[in-house]
Amino acid sequence: MLTFNHNSHDTTKVVHRAMITVEIATKPLKIRTKATMVTDVLISEVGPRDGLQSVKRTMSTADKQRWIDALVAAGIQEIEVGSFVSPKLLPQMADTAQIVRHALQYPGLTVMALVPNARGAQMAIDAGVHKVTLPVSASEAHSMANVRKTRQEMLAEITKIAQLRDQQAPHIKIEAGISTAFGCTIQGEVLEDDVVWLAQAAIAAGADESGLSDTTGMANPAQVKRLFNKVRAAIGEKTGAAHMHNTRGLGLANCLAAYDAGVRTFDASLAGLGGCPYAPGASGNVVTEDLTFMFEAMGLRTGINLQALIEARKPLAEALPGEPLYGMTPASGLPKGFVAATELGGQP
Ligand SMILES: [Zn+2]
Repeated sequence: MLTFNHNSHDTTKVVHRAMITVEIATKPLKIRTKATMVTDVLISEVGPRDGLQSVKRTMSTADKQRWIDALVAAGIQEIEVGSFVSPKLLPQMADTAQIVRHALQYPGLTVMALVPNARGAQMAIDAGVHKVTLPVSASEAHSMANVRKTRQEMLAEITKIAQLRDQQAPHIKIEAGISTAFGCTIQGEVLEDDVVWLAQAAIAAGADESGLSDTTGMANPAQVKRLFNKVRAAIGEKTGAAHMHNTRGLGLANCLAAYDAGVRTFDASLAGLGGCPYAPGASGNVVTEDLTFMFEAMGLRTGINLQALIEARKPLAEALPGEPLYGMTPASGLPKGFVAATELGGQP
């Protein structure tokens, strides 16, 4: 029998679906926490950081909070809420400490922030984040252009951050996001051995996880699977998230390839916001709605309610009128009779 969702004809499961309700964006928010949620994959929403950082306009603090509320109501369990960088460089991120404090009210939500250096990490620790992510470029040329530091200097920064963490807040996790892991617009090819070395060196320097980012949208699925397998062979369970871009339309295919290589955490951005798209008409970041649909349709639980996730586009669209919002699933709607894996068995 060929059905789009192999579970959709199972009446027992459909009954279950009717019994589980998720409240959307109405107050008080009813949020299922990680403690009660069984998931197969973790979708980490990076829109409030990666997305807004690429938008020239600054979203107001109140609008950011409203958007985060809607994301949490949809069942998103991890959000990169901002970055601790100089407000002169990125005025969009000036209120990150305030946004962190707002997000911390949600039990079970992992609140992440990007930090470019130890100074930013100190601000993140002071604000009370659960996790910091530090971009470390596999391409020496990109590293110099982006943060004016060599890769070795970035590794030294991780050591400093790990020391701060150990002294002040040992529960905070540090993730090194290996950027330009699949190619660099400045240097071109990035050697896979360099990526594996850097992922390993970041762990040795004190990071808890090393993830791989297709910063430039150059990755293909065969490459993604091969490189994640190599990194996994080197650092095992310390392999972090796949951060894929949809620049050339391969974002979802690359996420699936990473899944096949054992990756279970995926960065994505609601409506594909941000990610510096290079190709017109193509979003930068992988679209959270489409990625969630893919996994749920495959029978893999994300813990996210797709309808509520699509609703979360509203506060974003209202806050940034005219900003292009991407996503095939929101445009087409859910297929008739579609039952999400999360609805079938998202709770123990
Ligand atoms: Zn990105």
